[in-house]
Amino acid sequence: MKFSTKAVHSGYYPTNNSSDNVPIYRTSAYVFDNTDFAADLFSLKKPGNIYSRMMNPTQAVLEERVAALEGGKAALALSSGTSAIFYTIINICKEGDEIISSSKLYGGTYTMLASILPEFGIKTVFVDSNNPENFDKATTSKTKLYFTETIGNPVLDVADIKAISVVAKKNNIPLAVDSTFTTPYIFRPLEYGADIVIHSLTKWIGGHDNGLGGIVVDGGKFDWKDKKFELYNKPDASYNNLMFSSLPETIPPFITRLRVVPLRNLGACISPDSAWLFIQGIATLPLRMDKHCANAMKIAEFLKNHPRVKWVRYPGLKTDPSWDLASKYYNGKFGGMVVFGIDNGLQGGKKFIDSLKLITHVANVGDIKTLAIHPASTTHSQMSEKEQEEAGLMPDLVRLSIGIEDADDIIEDIDQALKNS
Ligand SMILES: *Cc1c(COP(=O)(O)O)cnc(C)c1O
Repeated sequence: MKFSTKAVHSGYYPTNNSSDNVPIYRTSAYVFDNTDFAADLFSLKKPGNIYSRMMNPTQAVLEERVAALEGGKAALALSSGTSAIFYTIINICKEGDEIISSSKLYGGTYTMLASILPEFGIKTVFVDSNNPENFDKATTSKTKLYFTETIGNPVLDVADIKAISVVAKKNNIPLAVDSTFTTPYIFRPLEYGADIVIHSLTKWIGGHDNGLGGIVVDGGKFDWKDKKFELYNKPDASYNNLMFSSLPETIPPFITRLRVVPLRNLGACISPDSAWLFIQGIATLPLRMDKHCANAMKIAEFLKNHPRVKWVRYPGLKTDPSWDLASKYYNGKFGGMVVFGIDNGLQGGKKFIDSLKLITHVANVGDIKTLAIHPASTTHSQMSEKEQEEAGLMPDLVRLSIGIEDADDIIEDIDQALKNS
């Protein structure tokens, strides 16, 4: 099936019940046929539902659909993009291990890596991902994971996933990619050598500002038998002394452990109602993304030619530093995010946002509505000035997430707000 067909059909088989649309299974638990059957489920000898903290049939449709869209082996949906990133990390790293990450990250992810995880003995080395060699240079015997975003927050630098994955393979380190800003419609990191793909479903995949969720997709190709991945190569006391690297071929170790260890015991599960909303969102993802991308291109061009605008970043502009990589990887579609700076700096940026009428001022991105925020004073305000500078976050930067309204109306609102700022 092609992408748009998968977005409507994958993962749902209406043969066992007559419901044409995916049902919402509002149940906490599942009936076991008998005690032997229950024992087989718990020991992973048979697949099946145990308890809705770990799995749910509505959630399973979402997981199979996103795995199909990404070209992955299997997926696990979680309560938020944030928990998807956190569980991915603790499903690979333990105390004493190191992560190498791009320094250009979503604010919450940066805080998790820079402040929270060190308290648990997991250290992150931040590198400028514009040079993939930096991942190689920073690698030590403690390195267990490479992490990057496809289009880095907040300056919209495009990561060279293929080049980073070559370094990852050389060092036998799994590469996890947060592809929230690209969605599988624009870019599929597994096709370029990434091992794990993460999305905040809250953004473009859901697309309607109506629920929180995250998902992790396992490419299924990484070899976890290397002894340096201790969590996979020692009998796991937290799960029946199972050795996750020696599961049968058909059971992918990473995503299976993610479900039965972090999710099962730490509990950031997605609700079936949210999973259902994301299934609805995915059906129109290709249509919405076409419009997000077309509108964003028009707005980027408008800003580029506006006398009050000092600079604009949009990977789709031929003059953008990321254009070469974006045009190589993104098949002519460059996402819905545009960032820019106004001539009177920080004050101008704040006044611009306060003058908007149609565009809403929110912390979210990836909604059908056009959204604006000033990251330096909000989403990235936990960073020091030096950290902001390293992440490429200028104090005057205004972040726009372009919606699917008529581009003329978005431009009119931006134009009047620029006049007032
Ligand atoms: C929003 C976002 C997250 C966090 O996702 P939540 O669903 O809000 O927890 C992570 N990464 C990126 C790139 C995001 O935009």
